[in-house]
Amino acid sequence: MFDPSFKISNEPQSHCSISLPEPYRFDDTEFWRAIPAWRDVDSEAFGEFRWQQRNSITSLPRISQVLGEIANPSLLSDIKAGLLRARMNIRLTPYVFSRINWEFPEYDPLRRQFLPLGSEYKPEHPLANDDSLDEEGSKVRPHLVHRYPDKALFLPITLCPVYCSFCTRSRVVGGSTAVKSKSTYGAKPSDWEESFDYIRNHPQIEDVVISGGDALLLRAKHIRLIGKTLLDIPSIRRIRFATKGVAIMPMKFTSDGEWMDALAEVATYGKRLMKEVALHTHFNCDREISAWTTRAMSALCEIGLIVRNQSVLIAGVNDNFSVLHQTFKGLSSQRIQPYYLYQHDMIPGCEHLRTTVHLAKSLSMKLQGSMTGFNTPRVVCDAPGGGGKREISSHLLYDREIGVSAWSSPAAKPGKTFLYYDPIHLLEKEGKTIWNNPTEIKSRVASIKSKALDRASAFV
Ligand SMILES: *Cc1c(COP(=O)(O)O)cnc(C)c1O
Ligand code: SF4
Repeated sequence: MFDPSFKISNEPQSHCSISLPEPYRFDDTEFWRAIPAWRDVDSEAFGEFRWQQRNSITSLPRISQVLGEIANPSLLSDIKAGLLRARMNIRLTPYVFSRINWEFPEYDPLRRQFLPLGSEYKPEHPLANDDSLDEEGSKVRPHLVHRYPDKALFLPITLCPVYCSFCTRSRVVGGSTAVKSKSTYGAKPSDWEESFDYIRNHPQIEDVVISGGDALLLRAKHIRLIGKTLLDIPSIRRIRFATKGVAIMPMKFTSDGEWMDALAEVATYGKRLMKEVALHTHFNCDREISAWTTRAMSALCEIGLIVRNQSVLIAGVNDNFSVLHQTFKGLSSQRIQPYYLYQHDMIPGCEHLRTTVHLAKSLSMKLQGSMTGFNTPRVVCDAPGGGGKREISSHLLYDREIGVSAWSSPAAKPGKTFLYYDPIHLLEKEGKTIWNNPTEIKSRVASIKSKALDRASAFV
């Protein structure tokens, strides 16, 4: 029955007055107090984005310092060995750091994403590639990638509030590491005009993804500038800000008023022009959802932003149905729409995190029909070499023995075929043997390539 006392509040809700059914009442304990250095930090301090930024963990000595008496020396030396091979710097917000179960860090899905261990690494795949999606090949301006006919990817910044060891842009995002030197850039608005001009001059572009790096680190005035400039272009129908923020620093949305005002302004501006303004975030497993997520989402719902999620399928993190199902149901309950689940890209340093295409297909099969249709993510493989996102079951052929799948991409790259390679350590014995024989693997791959070209012609 209608409750006459019910009123829609105009106040941004910084505290959770939302009532959720039991399975969706996420962790609201003061879990960070399990970390010795933060034992005395109250929820008010912990809930401040500035505190989160200031106390972010960016080095091994800092890890050992905050863990204090619970630090495990053998784990620390394993992390040290991992860092010698890592292509991404260490950077974790205290929020993410304290979501890790430090009693069993070896198996922890969050530790695995942000702090690679030396003992985890597998031999590199011979065809792993720094720029596996060939973004450089579709780069039309220094900060703009234009691969698909009607959408473009704008990269105004290469910094992030956390660094994921599986980052697909590890060649440019974050600072240099022991094995990878980079020339990263922060936000420089004077450099953006040429990208805006390109978009103005290509009216077939209707959709711009604002990514990086992470849009969370753009200043309020930059959010406003980018948002309004793009929305003012007549051909643009929709824009999205890509940020891992909701997953790794939800406090930004409840405690950075100036930044939220800018985002709200852009959202309202879009509404007036009947254009879509969305935020795309990046959760990978259910352990990343807490009561802080609910608070952030409550604030984002208030300003009327559409929020979607893009996950990566990662071995040892979310490579089973029950974790994925729980994650996507949990996100949906917070009005975060699961949008994509990506097959892991073929970037170097990630063999221990990749899975086979076969696994992705079987997970996709189980996910379909297990929840609301529009909340069921599309499981896709971003075809190496610039084929773009392809439905996981839409390969032209798949030789499971050697783990090679072939794809075509009529919309992005007509007439071409693309190959994805499963991790060799996950193949059966026969497949591994073939990979050890250069002549044999060469001829097997060549035959896949030619069959694929044949089949592709059936789909033009
Ligand atoms: C993913 C991506 C987009 C956006 O694609 P959607 O399928 O609409 O999410 C645009 N440009 C590039 C280069 C991309 O990789
Ligand atoms: S937040 Fe995104 S861009 Fe930044 S390191 Fe992680 S995956 Fe890469």
